[in-house]
Amino acid sequence: MTDAEQTDIVEQTDVVVMGAGVSGVQTARLLNLGDSSVNVVVLEARDRVGGRLRSPVLSGRRLDVGATWFWPNERRINALLAELNVGSYPQHLHGHMVFDDGSGSVRRAPNQLDVPSGRVVDGFEALVERMAKDLAPDTIRFDTPATSVRSADGGLTVTTSTGLIAARHVVVAMPPALAVSTIDFGGELDERVASVAAQTPVWMGGTVKVVTTYEQPFWRDEGLAGSAFSYAGPMRELHDMSGPDGEPAAIFGFCALEPTAPAPDREAIVEQMVTLFGPGAAEPTDVEIVDWRAEPFTVTPELVGLTNYRTYGHDTYQQPSLNGSLHWASTETAIEMPGHVEGALAAAERVASTIHSALAKDPV
Ligand SMILES: Cc1cc2nc3c(=O)[nH]c(=O)nc-3n(C[C@H](O)[C@H](O)[C@H](O)COP(=O)(O)OP(=O)(O)OC[C@H]3O[C@@H](n4cnc5c(N)ncnc54)[C@H](O)[C@@H]3O)c2cc1C
Repeated sequence: MTDAEQTDIVEQTDVVVMGAGVSGVQTARLLNLGDSSVNVVVLEARDRVGGRLRSPVLSGRRLDVGATWFWPNERRINALLAELNVGSYPQHLHGHMVFDDGSGSVRRAPNQLDVPSGRVVDGFEALVERMAKDLAPDTIRFDTPATSVRSADGGLTVTTSTGLIAARHVVVAMPPALAVSTIDFGGELDERVASVAAQTPVWMGGTVKVVTTYEQPFWRDEGLAGSAFSYAGPMRELHDMSGPDGEPAAIFGFCALEPTAPAPDREAIVEQMVTLFGPGAAEPTDVEIVDWRAEPFTVTPELVGLTNYRTYGHDTYQQPSLNGSLHWASTETAIEMPGHVEGALAAAERVASTIHSALAKDPV
């Protein structure tokens, strides 16, 4: 007898969504749109929604330490922001970029590092918090990771710390490689899908993102855009990350690190900021160093080195597994814009539509 069978079923529902990142919350929203009365439970391992969208308060305002931008050609995210009346503002582009080939920093014009893009006022995490408000109270169960999935009569069962939930459909709204390495599927997954999932890199899972805030966006006064590309110091690519109207003033950088190299410390960051942007960068008000490799509900150390990006949007993800009951919804599974927030929304759209059709064909 499996662990799952030993545990009593504590709840029955139409759909269990595993993960309350943007893909999971959007899947749940779409399942409940209009007259639809699909019962959904969203299991979330963390104590918050958003997953790779995280926007803590830095120097008095929420800024993104996960995803930063959306782009004008991404119709779903642009439409969602408009629908929910969530404010956005343009990425600061004006000024020269800085380049450091290891022998010191030089200005370069034009700024080749930034393209027109949008940022969410109060950060991307606030968007998912707003989306979650459309769900019935108690839909999302926080601090409740899914630990196993098994076939059962009429669907699947999902094991959590609070017991067993039976559902007709289950949605994997977390990186596929994380799902197959941390959730026990009891060997039931088809070999092909299990193998593709195990190889699918977690988008940006190996990233260390650093946000440095200042009293003033001093670089703008000096004709700099706040963007830089550097082969010296821990950060490789940097961009202006100030809030709306430059408040608070901020620059973020992506570090270029080997998968197991330690994250840089504050001293190394400030030293590089001064090399790139001059003495005005010497006294940041805040330095936030976020190592996504150390987030166990995003990635595990064994998965950081995955590189087979051809698995993104793979055809095995486009149809459900386990007799039509297990659906793949994270950004990595999307055909359009995989990796982006837009991809997560596209995947959610596909899965919600598949589940709606299945439930309509086979009402209880
Ligand atoms: C540093 C960084 C910068 C980025 N920049 C951009 C950008 O500028 N623009 C852009 O479009 N995209 C960007 N991205 C990518 C973007 O963040 C993702 O595409 C998007 O957030 C993925 O959403 P998701 O719902 O598919 O997955 P996730 O956000 O990873 O959500 C998965 C959820 O599942 C939960 N979970 C994990 N395990 C379990 C379990 N066992 N049971 C239940 N829940 C579980 C997690 O806690 C999480 O909430 C960036 C990402 C990072 C990390």
